[in-house]
Amino acid sequence: MVEQARLEQENLWLRERLATLIEAARDNERKLDRMTGLEMRLLAADGLMGILSLLLEEFPRDYELDHVGLVLHDPDGVISTILDAALCPRGLWALKLAPSAEDLKTPAGLYLGDYAACPEALRFEGCGELGSVALLPVQRAGRCLGVLSLGSRCSGRYGEGMDTYLLRRLAAVVAICIENALAAWRLQELGVTDALTGVRNRRFFDLRLQEEMTRVVRERQSLACLFVDIDHFKAVNDGYGHGVGDQVISAVAQRLGRHLRGSDLLARYGGEEFVMLLPGLDRQEVRAVAERVRQVVCGGAVVVDEHSLSVTVSIGVAHWPTQRLVGQDPSVAAQTLLREADEALLRAKGDGRNRVVMAGLPPPDAMSLELLPLGL
Ligand code: GH3
Ligand code: MG
Ligand code: MG
Repeated sequence: MVEQARLEQENLWLRERLATLIEAARDNERKLDRMTGLEMRLLAADGLMGILSLLLEEFPRDYELDHVGLVLHDPDGVISTILDAALCPRGLWALKLAPSAEDLKTPAGLYLGDYAACPEALRFEGCGELGSVALLPVQRAGRCLGVLSLGSRCSGRYGEGMDTYLLRRLAAVVAICIENALAAWRLQELGVTDALTGVRNRRFFDLRLQEEMTRVVRERQSLACLFVDIDHFKAVNDGYGHGVGDQVISAVAQRLGRHLRGSDLLARYGGEEFVMLLPGLDRQEVRAVAERVRQVVCGGAVVVDEHSLSVTVSIGVAHWPTQRLVGQDPSVAAQTLLREADEALLRAKGDGRNRVVMAGLPPPDAMSLELLPLGL
């Protein structure tokens, strides 16, 4: 009898134990499914902004986390550039960029526990009183890309003795996604950047000219195009060699870019010729900008090695006010604008170089002829 009672007791205990284990296994399966879903969405995310929005906005909401923060290593400023280009309002997310590896204060490995032990560099303002955190180093091929932090007000949510499989998997997927997004961005940049000067290349300009023309026609803005060509550049090459010539082209590009607004575009059109697009200015403003650009280039000698070279540019300008753009076919208008700027540049060269010529105005000589007083 006693033996039977003992066996029944043991049977009951085993059943309860089995039920608990099955419930724990189901719970783990649900967590695994949810995490797989998040990872699939991360892998399908649209660029860095898509990844950040998933991680820093949707993830804390879906997982009822009081805080999800990311500190990213950004040694060359690429991430900062991507965020700025996407007009990402800083402070919207718990995101910090660390220029140097020392700033990153990467934990040696995954850390689960007390928030008080979290290094200052990995803390975020405005995340409230946290009880526990998980700090996940985001690494790829031995390189540290950043640290992801998950925080909860509950002191027991992250602590020692927990299975870290899902967290480590998430960190690995985040690392792959971020690295891929940055590599894709760099590749795209390479295709639209001029290797010598770092400004946009002709390919990018041709694409943007069409887009910009369509936009200004739609938004009833004006558009100006400046063709800028270095004067007597062949003499630089002939006198000092192509290496020095290259550096002069590069120095001119940097000077041209100095006073650009965010809406302006500068590109190397080819050789020693640059093109600029300036939307939203009236004719006088465009002339003033072109004149300032000319003066900035010739304002000081370009020093290359032991050589000090004075460089001048000729600038041809075409300016289309809103009235002229209304009702135009953007692609025809783009080509005409470009042709007019090119013709104005030829006139600037013909008139003696180191000057600005606006398309649509007769040359100064013709103007003065028209103004001759009638003799009687
Ligand atoms: P102009 O005042 O009429 O513009 O005379 P220019 O000598 O500047 O014009 P030209 O078109 O006769 O010469 C341009 C030269 O620019 C010829 C070409 O060898 C040189 N060039 C084109 N691309 C590059 C480049 O990437 N690097 C260097 N160093 N030279 C280049
Ligand atoms: Mg030239
Ligand atoms: Mg030229």
